Formats: sequence, C-alpha cells, structure tokens
Amino acid sequence: PPTQSTIEYKDLTIGKIIGSGEFAEVYEGTYRKSRVAIKVLKEPNSAALFLHEADIMSSLKHPNLVQLLGVAQSPDNVIYLVTEFMAKGSLLHYLTTRGRSVIYKTDLLSFAIDTCEGLSYLEQNHIVHRDVAASNVLIADDNTAKVSDFGLAKSAGDNGCERIKCRTKWTAPEALESKKYTHKSDIWSYGILLWEIYSYGRCPYPRIPANEVLINLKQGHRMEPPDGCPPEIGDIMRQSWLNDPDKRPTFSNVLDKLKQIRERLP
Ligand code: ADP
Repeated sequence: PPTQSTIEYKDLTIGKIIGSGEFAEVYEGTYRKSRVAIKVLKEPNSAALFLHEADIMSSLKHPNLVQLLGVAQSPDNVIYLVTEFMAKGSLLHYLTTRGRSVIYKTDLLSFAIDTCEGLSYLEQNHIVHRDVAASNVLIADDNTAKVSDFGLAKSAGDNGCERIKCRTKWTAPEALESKKYTHKSDIWSYGILLWEIYSYGRCPYPRIPANEVLINLKQGHRMEPPDGCPPEIGDIMRQSWLNDPDKRPTFSNVLDKLKQIRERLP
C-alpha cells in the first residue's frame, strides 16, 4: 500500500551512476524536474519494514540532514530511494581530494558544526544513527555538510551488521561488545569524524589494524588529535572517547562548544 513517502516509479528519470557503496548503487536522476540522487539497494530486505522506516526518515527534516524525498518501487520490485542531490559528494572525498592547501580552517569548523547540527536534531528526535563517519556525510553545492544514511542501519537487518563490522574504527567499545548503540555511541563516532575532518580525511588509527582496535582501546589507548587541530576541538575528541558512555557529552553540549569556538574566531 502507498505510504506518505511513496514516489511513482514513472515520475523518476534515472541517469548515470555516481557512486557505489557496499550497500547500494547511487545514480543521478530527476524527479519532478529537480535533480536527485537515486539509491538502488543491492539486496532489498523486507520491503514493508523498509518502507515504514522510510516514512520515519522522510518525516525528519533539517538543513543538515540529506532529505529523503521518497521511495519508489519498479514493476519488478526493485526499491529506489530518492534523496536530494549532493553535488560535491562525500565529506571524506572532499577532504582527501582537496587537502590542506585548498581547505580553510573555517571550512573544517563549519563541517564540524553542520554535522553536529544534524546529529543534534536526530538526538532530539531519539534517532540513533549508528554509522556516523565522514563517508556518510555529503557536501552540497554551497558547501553545506549534511548527514546521510540515518535510519537505514536499523532497518537493514543482516546487512546492517555486515556494515557495522567494517566500521570497527568508528564504533564505541560498548557498541562493539554488546551492540549497545545509543546517542553516546554516536558521540564516540562523531569524535572519530572530528578526527577525520582535522586530519583531512586520514584513516583513523593509521598504524593499527581494525581487528586490534578494541583491545587497544581497552588498554586505554586513544588517538592524539591531529597536528594543527585547535586544542578545544582536541578536548571534544577526548571527551567523546571516554570509557563511560554517561561521561561523554551530548550532541547539544558539543554544538554549544563548537559555536563558542566559532564566535571567538577573528
Ligand atoms: P552505501 O550506503 O552503500 O555505503 P553511500 O550512501 O555511501 O552508499 O553512497 C555511495 C556514494 O554515492 C557516496 O560516497 C557519494 O559519492 C554518492 N552519493 C550518495 N548519496 C548521494 C547524494 N544524495 N547525492 C550525491 N551523491 C551521492
């Protein structure tokens, strides 16, 4: 049955492929004359459950969340997720292809604030993202950063778990060990995202293989803030990587701090 987020398949024009993840292929396209991104799930799970999640996702609206416009189903039952088009691709791609000489310090701070705004909105709406990482943040034409893929991890069933496995370096220890995904494990991942931003897209824990990260964390090892990272940002990283989830800050705490840092800029 059609739901609020149902889109007519015939209203979509699917263009060239622009990206491919483990989970989906992404095409450029048009929907009612606007440029959109169209995500085709590689292995659709339960369509009904998925459409329900999609309803929740399309009801979440914020300038720093990639807007889901709706879901279409082709006559042969392939599911298409239609989102707003993000012209500059992922934040990780942006950081690694442009680098230090092109990106200003103020750009880094605004990526940090934009993503924190989006995640703080999710926190207020009691949505745990579970997959916060620079590769899941997309950049619009005007350089606004928006959080993508929220709500998907939960409806993804086994694929969701597969996906999390490759995210060891982003995931809080309690989430790795007992699958306790909360806003506080999202904050841990946000700390890693901050580290990615201020290192211009380096892979976290560069010298540690993913399967040895947890043991290192348990021994108290943490990353140093990247070279040139403002000390207050380094403090936010350290607080978001505290062992006790309750001692980590909330997204709204972090957002306040980031805005204070921006105000103090010359
Ligand atoms: P997966 O969920 O399978 O990992 P992603 O959502 O990461 O797939 O998408 C893969 C790539 O497709 C991204 O890195 C990005 O380059 C591109 N992409 C995804 N969504 C959009 C969008 N809304 N606008 C523009 N490009 C997008």
